[in-house]
Amino acid sequence: MQQGNIGVTTENIFPVIKKFLYSDHEIFLREMVSNAVDATQKLKTLIRQGDFKGDAGDLTIHVSLDEKAGTLTISDRGIGMTADEIDKYINQIAFSGVTDFMEKYKDKADAIIGHFGLGFYSSFMVSKKVEIVTRSYKEGSKAVKWSCDGTPSFTIDDADKADRGTDIILYIADDCKEFLEKQRISDLLNKYCKFMPVPIAFGKKTEWKDGKQVDTDEDNIINSVEPLWTKTPSTLKDDDYKKFYHTLFPMNDDPLFWIHLNVDYPFHLTGILYFPKVKSNLDLQRNKIQLYSNQVFVTDHVEGIVPDFLTLLHGVIDSPDIPLNVSRSYLQSDSNVKKISTYIEKKVADRLQGIFKSDRKEFEKKWDDIKLFINYGMLSEPETFYDRAKDFALMKDTEGKYYSFEEYRKLIEGNQTDKDKVVVYLYATNKEDQYTYIEAAKSKGYSVLMLDGQLDVPVISLLEQKFSQSRFVRVDSDIIDRLIVKDDAPKSTLTDDERDILSQVFRSQMPAMEKKEFGVEVSNLGENAQPVVLTENEYMRRMKDISKYQ
Ligand code: ADP
Ligand code: MG
Repeated sequence: MQQGNIGVTTENIFPVIKKFLYSDHEIFLREMVSNAVDATQKLKTLIRQGDFKGDAGDLTIHVSLDEKAGTLTISDRGIGMTADEIDKYINQIAFSGVTDFMEKYKDKADAIIGHFGLGFYSSFMVSKKVEIVTRSYKEGSKAVKWSCDGTPSFTIDDADKADRGTDIILYIADDCKEFLEKQRISDLLNKYCKFMPVPIAFGKKTEWKDGKQVDTDEDNIINSVEPLWTKTPSTLKDDDYKKFYHTLFPMNDDPLFWIHLNVDYPFHLTGILYFPKVKSNLDLQRNKIQLYSNQVFVTDHVEGIVPDFLTLLHGVIDSPDIPLNVSRSYLQSDSNVKKISTYIEKKVADRLQGIFKSDRKEFEKKWDDIKLFINYGMLSEPETFYDRAKDFALMKDTEGKYYSFEEYRKLIEGNQTDKDKVVVYLYATNKEDQYTYIEAAKSKGYSVLMLDGQLDVPVISLLEQKFSQSRFVRVDSDIIDRLIVKDDAPKSTLTDDERDILSQVFRSQMPAMEKKEFGVEVSNLGENAQPVVLTENEYMRRMKDISKYQ
């Protein structure tokens, strides 16, 4: 038997690990299983290169619970470790990693959000003792057992293990008994390991017999080793994408469409992003994008990695190039992450543009559902995303017809330009309430836009900045001839004084609240026009609306 001290100065490092990672105890399982996956993949590589000639056999990873012994065991049939390798990879390297980690984050415990691949030593967050029983694939290797009880001393012993591979045996600590519960482990495997690339078995499949659920002989495999995003898009059908969406989000409606991401350069990234069907704004859910690194779940908080407005999409992103072991503020300043974010934004815009070009009808059908995403995108990325979206974003008139920005400009330019050469966009927010105003505008041959979406008002302000010589006014903000003032505007037959008096009379009948909000305009413009209309000042109303949305 060999004994030793792990090379750190701190007397007992484990309470510190526990404290630092308190909220994230559960990731230990991801770390243990992903180490088992790594060891298995390494063996596969050796086989491919002809460096391992034996029989690989079944490579399934087994996770098992022994409630009586109070242990959770992760077993693989990967490359295993020799005693020397344990010394190198476990005793030295990993601990120096922890020391670095503590040096770096000593004073910033609170600033650390997210997940840490603390690797093997995360097992001590939940264990009072950890054993490694392992046997290397190398010819003539002896099995070894490493044991450590959470103090910086460990033992290495010979062990009985006929088979190649590694068992990690965790003696679960008394204050972490939850990790001895079948359901809890099952949930965690489902969360972190569902798409790992090597089969993982947890218990046996069950079946119903005589009204009772009993175990069968068949392993219960908890993961799918080749998730959809790792496949070549051209081999996939719409149904495959929908089915995968429902495995991620079983309760949701079919998605509107999706974007399969697949990049090799300048970084590696694959994934599938879905535009969800949103029945109401209350349905909008953020953080429905799961981030993976080589099929290992990392987080579903993707802020900083995808542009803010795309956090409303659903799906998965997998990139080994996103640094995982760091705080979120670091993530946001990482140049790789910035590149990824820019790329995703461009890819989403390209796909939308593609549908718009190739199938305008289909695009119009989807527009009302995706409009909120696009509007939000234009508002939050008024340079980059706006610049792409302006070519496919649509405007809808009160008749339900759709126009691109450019098409609509062409449509109204001739007729709706005022004497100062400003093109006036008339819009309504409620067809019933503003009916008479809409009709008055139409009778002049004007077109009225329907802008009843949640973000339409802020978007109007953006468009006024982007479009040259343009103004948006709601149809009821003044009488129509003053909304688009032409040189030849008909003169009222009443004098200004007479109109003032009439207006006063009407105002005196209004409740105080309304007096503040509405103007009273008197006119006698033709036979069908109403002599007196209530108007709501465009500027005042818009300020009010915008403050509401903020
Ligand atoms: P990382 O996985 O990032 O290298 P870890 O702390 O998780 O860091 O693991 C440290 C090292 O221990 C690994 O690189 C590997 O060499 C070794 N190791 C851990 N688990 C296993 C295992 N199940 N089989 C073989 N080697 C392992
Ligand atoms: Mg690891």
